[in-house]
Amino acid sequence: MQPLIDLKTQYLNIEEKVKEEIMKVLDSGQFIMGDTVSQLENYLANYVGVKHCISCSSGTDALVMSLLANGVGPGDAVIVPSFTFIASAEAVSLTGAVPLFIDIDKDDFNISSDKIQILIDAFNDKSVSRHPLPEIALHEDLKLKGIIAVDLFGCPANYYEINKIAKKNNLVVIEDAAQSFGATQNGNKTCSLADIACTSFFPAKPLGCYGDGGAIFCNDDNIADTLRSIRVHGQGVNKYENIRLGLTGRLDTIQAAVLSVKLEIFDNEINERQRVAKYYKELINKNKFKVQKIKSENESVWAQFTLVANTEQERDDIVKKLNENEISTSIYYPIPLHMQKAYQSLGYHSADFEITLDLSKKVFSIPMHPYLKEREIERICKVINDE
Ligand SMILES: *Cc1c(COP(=O)(O)O)cnc(C)c1O
Repeated sequence: MQPLIDLKTQYLNIEEKVKEEIMKVLDSGQFIMGDTVSQLENYLANYVGVKHCISCSSGTDALVMSLLANGVGPGDAVIVPSFTFIASAEAVSLTGAVPLFIDIDKDDFNISSDKIQILIDAFNDKSVSRHPLPEIALHEDLKLKGIIAVDLFGCPANYYEINKIAKKNNLVVIEDAAQSFGATQNGNKTCSLADIACTSFFPAKPLGCYGDGGAIFCNDDNIADTLRSIRVHGQGVNKYENIRLGLTGRLDTIQAAVLSVKLEIFDNEINERQRVAKYYKELINKNKFKVQKIKSENESVWAQFTLVANTEQERDDIVKKLNENEISTSIYYPIPLHMQKAYQSLGYHSADFEITLDLSKKVFSIPMHPYLKEREIERICKVINDE
């Protein structure tokens, strides 16, 4: 079976180095934090081009911690796209705040920046006729605190517009870069594009470790201090003084060691991902399937290579055919967030976000990783094009 992501081939290339670095941690006996973690944080902050990197336990925890550090909690609301992984909205709910869903752009699948101001105005006027709102926003005076923009499938969202609208409305922008670490916008790396950014080192992400992990990036010294405190149960100057509530949010030292090895090959892997994406785009019959559009200012890291069929039936047929030909596929995402059972109580309707609903029926993702060979790409495309 042609896998969606090939972590095995990657491991065979770095096996010795990874074992060596893990052994060093085992020999040192330092399993929590320590130099391995701080060196990784310095490296990542430099790589991205921001002042602070706070490594943490997962991408989801990165989002929760970022929201907490910005004072988001019960009685607040945060704008989140309806077409993303559940964690983008779940983090908001876990703080006690309410997600306000918004539709996405039909071409690049990221938050529709032209609808943000409309949503803000509708929210302020409690007017569902102007933009769908959760029921609770009509009955309670929630306070809008921020926007979570997601860099879907590795492609940065439209930060120029998002940051501009956020500034005007005094909102914090959180970049959910869980899928886009290493990508760029106008030459700037993701995780540097908003007030605060979160990424994930879940194994299947472009930069993955061998377990759960994540990181938060920001330039603000106070927010960085708050995040470091939240990471360890809201600690003050010493461990048993707690000045706020937090969580067990640290990145394991062993995972930091794994990441330090993976970073050595990461830039080369990004180039290889771009090679694969370029060849796919050359070969795929655009009359049959649309490809996620990457605007000229962006370079995606292609966490997923996602196609859009003309109809739901065509999508289901091609997925079946690819699987029959031993080619893995996946559907990101089959159920829009506003239609998830977990969010039933918000009272949204399926047609509230048209593009999200439409794409959830037509998208499918095909194998994408740095180790795909030309002839494998050619075979996948032959099946897709029905040649
Ligand atoms: C994977 C992912 C997350 C969560 O990351 P974890 O490390 O799995 O907690 C958040 N947002 C998006 C968009 C993701 O793809």
